[in-house]
Amino acid sequence: MSATDILGRPIRLLVVDDDATVALMAKMALSDFGFEVRTVTSGDAARDAIQRQTPDIIVLDLVLPGTSGFEICREVRNSPAGHQIPIVIASSNDDTASIEAAYQEGATTFVNKPINWAILRHQLQYLLRAARDRARLAESEERYALAAAGANDGLWDWNIAQDTAYFSPRWREQLKLREADLGGKTSNWFSRIHPDDQLGFHNELNAHLAGQTPKLEIEYRVRDRDDTYRWMLCRALAIRDGDGNPYRIAGSQTDITERKDAEQQVLHDALHDPLTGLANRRLLLERISHAIKLARRRVDYAFAVAIIDLDRFKTINDSLGHLAGDSLLRRIGERIAGHLRASDTLAHLGGDEFAILFDDFADFTNLDHLIERIRHEIAQPFVLMGQEVATAASIGVTLSSVAYNVAEDMLRDADIAMYRAKATGKNRYQVFDSTMHTQVASMLQMESELRAATTRNDFEIHYQPIRHLGDDRIVGFEALLRWRHPARGELAPEAFIGLAEETGLIVPIGYGVIRQATQQLAAWHQELSAARKTFVAINLSSRQFSHPDLLQHVAAALEDSGLPAEFLRLEITESVLIDNTRQAAQVLQELKQLGVRTIIDDFGTGYSSFSYLHRLPFDALKIDRSFVAGVDRDTKSREIVRAIVSLAQNLGLAAIAEGGETQQEVEYLQSIGCEFNQGFAFSKAISADKIVEFVRRHSAARLKMIDGGKNA
Ligand code: C2E
Ligand code: CA
Ligand code: CA
Repeated sequence: MSATDILGRPIRLLVVDDDATVALMAKMALSDFGFEVRTVTSGDAARDAIQRQTPDIIVLDLVLPGTSGFEICREVRNSPAGHQIPIVIASSNDDTASIEAAYQEGATTFVNKPINWAILRHQLQYLLRAARDRARLAESEERYALAAAGANDGLWDWNIAQDTAYFSPRWREQLKLREADLGGKTSNWFSRIHPDDQLGFHNELNAHLAGQTPKLEIEYRVRDRDDTYRWMLCRALAIRDGDGNPYRIAGSQTDITERKDAEQQVLHDALHDPLTGLANRRLLLERISHAIKLARRRVDYAFAVAIIDLDRFKTINDSLGHLAGDSLLRRIGERIAGHLRASDTLAHLGGDEFAILFDDFADFTNLDHLIERIRHEIAQPFVLMGQEVATAASIGVTLSSVAYNVAEDMLRDADIAMYRAKATGKNRYQVFDSTMHTQVASMLQMESELRAATTRNDFEIHYQPIRHLGDDRIVGFEALLRWRHPARGELAPEAFIGLAEETGLIVPIGYGVIRQATQQLAAWHQELSAARKTFVAINLSSRQFSHPDLLQHVAAALEDSGLPAEFLRLEITESVLIDNTRQAAQVLQELKQLGVRTIIDDFGTGYSSFSYLHRLPFDALKIDRSFVAGVDRDTKSREIVRAIVSLAQNLGLAAIAEGGETQQEVEYLQSIGCEFNQGFAFSKAISADKIVEFVRRHSAARLKMIDGGKNA
C-alpha cells in the first residue's frame, strides 16, 4: 500500500529530530511507502522547511537544540496553513507532564522513542485520512449552513459539467421570475446582472471556481421581471472532484436591497446638505480633489471653483424669520442650478454661502459670461411671505491654471477672491490672483491695528461746514472721521471704514464719534456766537443703525454733552434702509421722538426706489456728490440734481447738495433753488481748532458783506 493524497501526490512528511539516526531511519522505513520524507535537525531548520513547503504531516522531537518541540508545535498551529496539519510528538521523555503540555500546544498524538516505524507508518496514514475527513466535514457543514441560511433566501445549484442549473422557487420569487424565464440555465440569470456589476461578479465567480477563494460571496444588482434592479447577496461554495476541479457550485441568494438603500441614504446624507439637498463641503472637496488629479494628467483639462456669498442675507433672515431664510436659500440654489451642466457640482457650504465646481471649463470668456448670468439671476427679487426681497451675490473665482495640489487651498483662494469682491462693492465678482494673499495678510495686520486704535482712541474728527446757499450762513457741520495711524499718518475713512464695518469695530468707534462730536458742538455753541444755532451731522453705518443700544447711546451722549437733540442729525444711506424697511421705520420713529433729525445720505446712488421715502420719517436728503460733480457740463447730472431738489421740495424735505468744487457748480445749485451745500468750493473737512478760525473769519466776512451792502 502506498501513501498518496487525493490528488495522487506523495505525502510530504517532515521529521524534526536532532538525532541523525532517527532521520535516517525515517527515510528508510517510509520512503518506499510513498512518503516524501524531509528531515531537519534543528528548530530553525524546521521553521524554514515549513515556510518553504507546507508538509502534510510532521513528526516532532520534544528536545531540540535552542528550542523545544512544544514551541515549534505552537508556531505551526498558529500559522494560517498549519492549523490542520497532524503533528506527531516523538519523545523518550514519557512523563505525563510533557504529554499533557504537548497536547496543550496542539499535538495530534504521541509516540514513544525508540520509534516502531512499521506501526508509525499506519498511524500516519490513519491520521492523514482523519484530517482530510475533518476538512471535508467542515466544508459540508459550511455548505449546509449556507443552504439553511433562512427561509427567506433563495437557493441555486449549478451543475457545471452538464451546465444545468436549479433555482429554488424562493430564488425565482425574489426576482418575480417564472421557471420558463430561467429554463435551468445560468446564462438567463447572468444576463440580468447590472452592466456595472457584470465584471465584478464574474471575476469573483471565476476566482472561486479556480480555487483562489475559500468561498464565493458577492453583492451585486440583478434585474427582476419588472426591470427593476434589486441588490442581492450571493454566497456559494464549489464542490470539487479528486483533482480539485469544480463540478458543481451551490449557494444562496439574499435580497439586500433595503440595506443597500439605507447605506446609500447614509452615504447621500454624509455628502449633502439637508436644507437644500445640494452637495456639502465634503463632497465638493472630494470632487475638486478629483478634478485636480485629472488636470495634472490631462493638459487640455481645466476647471474653476466659485464661491458665492449672499449680501444682506442676514437681514432678510432676521426680519422675515428662519423659514423664509431657508426657503430663500433653496430657491437661490435652484436658480443657480438652472445655469449649470450635469457635470458641474453646486454645493451649499452652510449659512449664505454656495460654491460651484465648473468641471472641464477651458474657455474663460464663457465662464465670465456664465458667472455674470448667475449673479444677475440671484439679484432678481423674490417674493417671500408676501413680501418682495432682493439679495445680491459677491462671487470669488479661482482657476485650475494656478496648479493647486490641495482642494482646500482652492476653496480658500476662491474665498479670498470673494471677500475681495465684497470689499470693492457688493454684488461683484472677482477672480483670484496671487497678490491677494499678501493683501489678505495686510488686511489681517490692519485689523489688529484698528483694534488697537479703537482701544487707544487714535481717531480724530474733522468737520466740514454746511452752508445755506441763500444767505451764505453756516448752518452745520458734517463730522468726518480720520485715523491717526502710527506709521501711515492720517488715514481717510475709505481706508478703514469697510474693515471697521466687517469686524464690527465700527460700533464702538461710531459711539466715540457721537460722544465727541456732540460735546464739540455743545462747546462751540458756548464759545462761538456765529455757530450758536449750528447742527452736527454724523454718519451711521448699517451695523450701528441696527445695533440694539443705538437709542440709548444717542440719548446718553446728548445728556452728557448738554446738546439739545434738535442740533444732532444722523445720516443714513439708502442701502441701510432698503435692507430692512420695517425695522428702519421703527428706529427712525424712535429717533424722531428723541428729537433727533435724520438725513438720507448718498441719495440717488442706491436702489432708486423712492417708494420708501414717504413711508419713512425723514427730515432731509443729501444729494450725492457724484451728481453734483457734473452739473456745470453734464446735462444728465443737471437733470438728476434738479429732479431730486424738486422731489425734496414736494415732500417737504430739506435738500443738501454734497460736493461742489467750483464756483460754476455752486452757482448751478443756487440757480435751481437747492438750499444747502457742503463742498470743497466752500471748505474741506478740517480739524476742530481750524473750524473755530474758519467760522470766525467767515462770519466776519459775511457781516462785512451785509454791512457793505447796507452802506452802499
Ligand atoms: P460721505 O458720508 O458721503 O461723506 C462725504 C464725503 O465727501 C467726505 O469724505 C467729504 O470729505 C467728501 N466731500 C465733501 N465735499 C466734497 C467735494 O466737494 N469734493 C470731493 N471730492 N469730496 C467732497 P470723507 O471724509 O473721506 O468720508 C468718506 C466716507 O466715509 C463718508 O462719505 C462716510 O460714508 C464715511 N464716514 C466718514 N466718517 C464716518 C463716521 O464717523 N462713521 C461712519 N459710519 N462713516 C463715516
Ligand atoms: Ca455723509
Ligand atoms: Ca456722499
